Amino acid sequence: MISNLFDYHLHSIYSPDGSMEMETIVNRARELGLAEICITDHVEVDSSFGDEWQTSTETLRALLSDLNRMQELTDGFVKKGAELAFPDHNPGTVKDMVSLVNPDDFDFIIVSLHQYQGESPFSDTFFRERTLAEGAATYIRSINERIREFPTEYYDVLGHIDFVVKGFHGCKDPRLSLSFFEEELRELFRYLIDNGKTLEVNTSIYRALPGNKVHGLDWLTLFAQMGGEYVTIGSDAHREEHIGYRLKDALNLIREAGIPYLATFDKRRAILHKIK
Ligand SMILES: [Zn+2]
Ligand SMILES: [Zn+2]
Repeated sequence: MISNLFDYHLHSIYSPDGSMEMETIVNRARELGLAEICITDHVEVDSSFGDEWQTSTETLRALLSDLNRMQELTDGFVKKGAELAFPDHNPGTVKDMVSLVNPDDFDFIIVSLHQYQGESPFSDTFFRERTLAEGAATYIRSINERIREFPTEYYDVLGHIDFVVKGFHGCKDPRLSLSFFEEELRELFRYLIDNGKTLEVNTSIYRALPGNKVHGLDWLTLFAQMGGEYVTIGSDAHREEHIGYRLKDALNLIREAGIPYLATFDKRRAILHKIK
């Protein structure tokens, strides 16, 4: 039974868009009473966002050494994670990710899509010529293509499948509807479940919505109906005030969707916690 919550998506100074020292993250997470956290900094190759987004061997080495230090210091309260990005322009560069990263160095790995043909789904240009429905379908279709080229031993969960919502601020009610992309989503869920992978519920999407609405019951219910048994939850915090953001609401949503377990990870092995 879950007596407490886990934040499994957090960014420290090792992310180009992060600003928190690992100590700051730990202190805040303890203050909030979280049971365990996983720090998941960005690891990117072939990024369209510029040179500072390319993860160097040196940065990765420093990150790992800090993660090891924090894990030891906190007696396992901190798990060692990473958020690997799908390469953008050239799918062939997956081999660069493979030579950069040793997946055995981590407890938990998220894979996620942040760019589509050089554009960020955050940007105005992505939605200039697309409706939210078209944007969402494009995003999921693109994940469907790229995930098949990405080696399965290099990730445990797919991050933020509803990421496009963050880019659609102009819309009065930018909630994703399952009907926008159900076919693509079924294909993706089938692939994940067949390969022993799962999804994360990323609460940073709620922060981006007007009124900070919780959403995603429809796609989580579909995931449960297709055999999805567990998910992870993360705030995707880059700033202190976002650590632990709406984790309880996400847990309630997962329960309502009929997903029986929440997962944490240890050395890439899922530990399942029954949701009551
Ligand atoms: Zn991300
Ligand atoms: Zn992230």
